[in-house]
Amino acid sequence: MAGKLKLDKSMALYAEAQTLVPGGVAGIRRPYNFVEGEYPIFFDEGKGGRIRDVDGNEYIDYLCAYGPIIIGYREEEIDNAVIEQIKNKGFCFSLTQATQNLLVRKLQEVIPCCDMAAIVKTGSDATTIAIRVARAHTGKLKVARCGYHGWHDWCVEVKGGIPPKFYEDIIEFHYNDLDQLEDILKANANDMAAIIVTPVGHPLGAEVQMPKPGYLEGVRRLADQYGCVLIFDEIRSGFRCSLGGAQEYFGVTPDLATFGKAMANGYPIAALVGKREIMGVLSKEVFLSSTFFPNSDAQVAALKTIEILQRDQVLDAVAAKGRKFGEDVEKVLAESGIPARFSGSPWMPFITFPKDATGLYKKLRVEFYTQLIRRGVFLQPYHHGYICHRHTDADLAFTVQAIKESLAELNKLA
Ligand code: PMP
Repeated sequence: MAGKLKLDKSMALYAEAQTLVPGGVAGIRRPYNFVEGEYPIFFDEGKGGRIRDVDGNEYIDYLCAYGPIIIGYREEEIDNAVIEQIKNKGFCFSLTQATQNLLVRKLQEVIPCCDMAAIVKTGSDATTIAIRVARAHTGKLKVARCGYHGWHDWCVEVKGGIPPKFYEDIIEFHYNDLDQLEDILKANANDMAAIIVTPVGHPLGAEVQMPKPGYLEGVRRLADQYGCVLIFDEIRSGFRCSLGGAQEYFGVTPDLATFGKAMANGYPIAALVGKREIMGVLSKEVFLSSTFFPNSDAQVAALKTIEILQRDQVLDAVAAKGRKFGEDVEKVLAESGIPARFSGSPWMPFITFPKDATGLYKKLRVEFYTQLIRRGVFLQPYHHGYICHRHTDADLAFTVQAIKESLAELNKLA
């Protein structure tokens, strides 16, 4: 039986943070998104696939900073490239450094839909400018969306402080449901500017979904039929499913796509990429500028990250590890008799507990993730995880064993 972790320093820092920052820490990192009292709140350091909290507890980390860590924490080759740039050249100037062109050439080389790119800082920057570009290009207003696309007014789930007019032309649809999308397009036939969809389905707190056969092709066909811009939000799938994103992996090319997270193994950078004739509106009628967008530190990090992903065939290795991990976890789940499901293989592993009439699933979820964190496995109860390159076979085997033991504890509740 694994004991409760000592988390005194995390708790003290959190108490202090609540006097300094509204909510103590930002958004998805708040304790209620984990198991309160069982998970740490502040980390101290990380290396490879492991992290250490401020109380000195060590974990195998499967949240990977919510996605950016595709290789590992403190990846020396990348950090050194950035340090060299900072020391030898500098990275924040009034004009653009040539690293921009090098990076966009690289994106052109690897991403199927990329004729041109605009470099920004966050995923939200990229999805928001994608919508603006699509509206300017088509001269139309409405947008059909599926997935989390960031914190901006047009798409954030929590509506506090946002005038309804900012999102009233945005229509949500469910992943893998082509009929519903078609109905939306039919009902708004002359007004649709864009469809934006995550090519892998990852609804909050629910199972990760891979596209059903023909789904992405169907979305592509509908976008063409109704004359709207097809945008793949590849913030999670980019530089993970394959170098060219899910569009390359599944063989369906959108008009525009957004990339971020894994693109620079943790450095702040994102991109809108797409077809020349659509991206062209950014040269004149659509405005995009921000103080830090052109900074070269993250561009250098992205170039080095992509170089390593290509050179070491990292994404093949990640997928192979993820696939084996998925198979092992499925076996353990089946043997346990606990009503839990595994999804997201090979890139985004997630163990969920399907709703039941008595609400037992909530207890199972809390107990399961409590048992896991006590065993040094950092996963999130309401968000899928990620496999990174530095997760070793031994880490993954340890994790499968921890999952097995945690499920055994649940049998005492069920
Ligand atoms: N799109 C997707 C699919 C995402 O997962 C996220 C972030 N979780 C975003 C957009 C927004 O990115 P950011 O948090 O960097 O603004």
